[in-house]
Amino acid sequence: MNEEKKCNGYEAMFTFLNEDDFKKHLHECAECRAEHEKMMRVSALIQEAKPFIKEKRKNSQILKAACAACFVVFACLSVPVYTLGTSVYNNVVASNAMTVEEMGLPVDEYGLLYIN
Ligand SMILES: [Zn+2]
Repeated sequence: MNEEKKCNGYEAMFTFLNEDDFKKHLHECAECRAEHEKMMRVSALIQEAKPFIKEKRKNSQILKAACAACFVVFACLSVPVYTLGTSVYNNVVASNAMTVEEMGLPVDEYGLLYIN
């Protein structure tokens, strides 16, 4: 009985045979052996790449967290800073604006222009 004739392709054998039978089949079937070696190389590559992928994922999570933190900080700060900014602006404008009195014009007791 020729074992190779039973081969339904690497994926089918991998799926339907148990580990021992699959290993046995790999010994008997050159096609699957080649396919298996390819798979092993791919999985080795994946194993090698895993730390990098993880690192990348960690970095992007850190980046996301940093972005979120920046946004929260910005959102928290921007409102008071905006309010502070306008009040500072108003104070500067108010203190720089000449009063009617400073212009040497007659004023009443409220500091308003007084015209007879
Ligand atoms: Zn096979």
